[in-house]
Amino acid sequence: MPIVRVAINIPVDTLFDYQTVDATPDDIGLRVSVPFGKKKVVGIIIAISDTTQIDTGKLKPVCSIYRETKPLPASLLELFRFCSEYYHHPLGMVILNSLPAAMRCNKAIQIKKPASNLSFELTPAGKQIDRSVIPARNRVARRLFSAFLESAALTETQIKQISPRANQWLPEWLHRGWIAAKQAPADTSATVTGSIPILTAEQAAAVNAITAGLQQFNIWLLHGITGSGKTEVYLRSIEPVLAQGKQTLVLIPEINLTPQLEKIFRSRFAATPIVSLHSGLNDSERLSGWTQAQSGAAKIILGTRLAVFTPLPDLGLIIVDEEQDSSFKQQDGLRYSARDMAIFRARQHAVTVILGSATPSLESYYNALNGRYHTLRLQSRAVRNAGLPSIHLIDTRIHKMQDGLTEPLINAIGRCLIEKNQSLVFINRRGYAPVLLCKSCGWSAACQRCSSRLVVHLRDKQLSCHHCGHQESFPRACPHCGNQDLAPFGQGTQRVEDALTSNFPAARILRIDRDSTRRKNAWHDMLQAIHGHQIDILIGTQLLSKGHDFPNLALVGIVSADNSLYSTDFRASERLFTQLMQVAGRAGRAQIAGTVLIQTEFPNHPLYQALQHHDYDGLAQILLSERKAAGFPPYVFQALLRGEAHDLNPVLNFLHQAIKLAKPPEAVELFDPVPAQMHRLKGLERAQLLIQSTSRKQLQAFLTEWCVQIHALTNHKVRWTLDVDPLEF
Ligand SMILES: [Zn+2]
Ligand SMILES: [Zn+2]
Repeated sequence: MPIVRVAINIPVDTLFDYQTVDATPDDIGLRVSVPFGKKKVVGIIIAISDTTQIDTGKLKPVCSIYRETKPLPASLLELFRFCSEYYHHPLGMVILNSLPAAMRCNKAIQIKKPASNLSFELTPAGKQIDRSVIPARNRVARRLFSAFLESAALTETQIKQISPRANQWLPEWLHRGWIAAKQAPADTSATVTGSIPILTAEQAAAVNAITAGLQQFNIWLLHGITGSGKTEVYLRSIEPVLAQGKQTLVLIPEINLTPQLEKIFRSRFAATPIVSLHSGLNDSERLSGWTQAQSGAAKIILGTRLAVFTPLPDLGLIIVDEEQDSSFKQQDGLRYSARDMAIFRARQHAVTVILGSATPSLESYYNALNGRYHTLRLQSRAVRNAGLPSIHLIDTRIHKMQDGLTEPLINAIGRCLIEKNQSLVFINRRGYAPVLLCKSCGWSAACQRCSSRLVVHLRDKQLSCHHCGHQESFPRACPHCGNQDLAPFGQGTQRVEDALTSNFPAARILRIDRDSTRRKNAWHDMLQAIHGHQIDILIGTQLLSKGHDFPNLALVGIVSADNSLYSTDFRASERLFTQLMQVAGRAGRAQIAGTVLIQTEFPNHPLYQALQHHDYDGLAQILLSERKAAGFPPYVFQALLRGEAHDLNPVLNFLHQAIKLAKPPEAVELFDPVPAQMHRLKGLERAQLLIQSTSRKQLQAFLTEWCVQIHALTNHKVRWTLDVDPLEF
């Protein structure tokens, strides 16, 4: 009797063996229902074997094998195995967590048939029919019939758009000979609608280079300034992939950007089946998109990080847009980097991967410098006559701030209003003020569950923790000294909004942050208002900085960005630079010349100097030499062993015990356990220890062995995780 080896969604890195009568090697990658303890759970068949190390008498039989979906392909299972080994995360959890929710349930799933490419048209007999033969009560049928009269042919999708129930009339009308079905041309090639921009010389060179090498594994770093038309390079690179009937995976950092990008892709490739995969979909939408990708029907798959694990039988190209974005790295559970997994997949399938960015991550930039990646530069803006914005620094030691705003910035916004242009004030902190302070004794409101201050939200008279969501009402007096004069200190988006409203009472002001975009469709409505020129002044956090195109935007003001300049996080400067470049890049993308004003106490700081001169390379060189001197990535590889518990001591003890077990080779260095930068979060104390090596291979070998030993350290009080290539400390 064959034995199936099954991966299950539990935190133990082992496969489980079961007996079955009818499994064949074709079943590898299928979902299976198996008894586990007292329950039945769903798993994935990883292998089929004749032998087992379990006493065959004790082997339990499989309950059932789910055959309604195709099995996960071998290449995807290989990707999961790599991911599991590299991030030291149990294989079963890696696989099951990547699947749509419906597939993680232990039951058969209903798969809706994807729309066929049939289309329908009226027969000559059908054209003679008077619409009134359809009873008036069948309103949908009448609408459908009118639609047939108005157009030559209707596809199933178009019919569904008339009404989801419209297709119920098709069988009857076919039977009566009113309509005939025909196969729509299976044209998935680049059918183009709308006008196609003429490529700049740099874009053309990039497209030529990429498309010449599509059939092999290549990593391209597409390094293009904001507004240089990277998307157009993507579109042109996809054309030949579609022409071969192959699939393109496009990974984007932010779910908010999907509708915009989907629109661009759909209007360029009107006849091509495109699916989006992101966390905003409901379970059945996600399952439907996933199965269309798996069947090969979907030719373009647009998605956020999890989409990197979608089965793609005809993969031809991978694009990672904004490759530097930290959202590609998952920060809990399986802490994988979707960008790095995308590169692994491209190598696996011998296809090209394009990493696009205006400000590449230093890791990627370094890989390009030493030739591991090829570089393509786009150094001019794609729209004719659109120059880069001019960037000026406002020295806040000279120009005093009122509610976070200096006079030169206020004046510039005023001029913008007169000229009927939009301006944007960027402040990456929501709420009214970051601190509530007692002026008498210096007490400030802090979260009981986190090592963080509570943010003042004046509108709802609440103090709120942005880390755990805890809220409480304003204290009447200082709990420490009884003083009643408590004052908000510092600025958030709401305070800047109030200040601008009192400065410009007639202006139409819109605040965009996580509080104002919480309502469903809020973001969509706001974007429409901005594009419809119904807004004069925008105030926003980093939500606004990514990818969006605001053609009327002439001025960007950056308020209080200095905090990150002297952070203890070695990546803070890189992140700040990226963020400010992105925000600055929103200005002057169309015909309007853009200006960026940055308020700072440190106008001579190299970061601001580089920003002012649009000098990414200059700053990257400085940061790289700092990293080299300090022994930070990309010159070393890191892993972080994190622990958390209700008290700090057991966590530190656990980490010390782990160190005692470790027998690192010479190239691997272990540091002392330290409390995390945010040492208390959601009521748990957190500490960590850093492991570092100049050899990724040696680091991995060490971690594999060490992980087994740490697992044996039974300590139920401490929860621990290993984070490979950590981005947050
Ligand atoms: Zn006080
Ligand atoms: Zn908190």
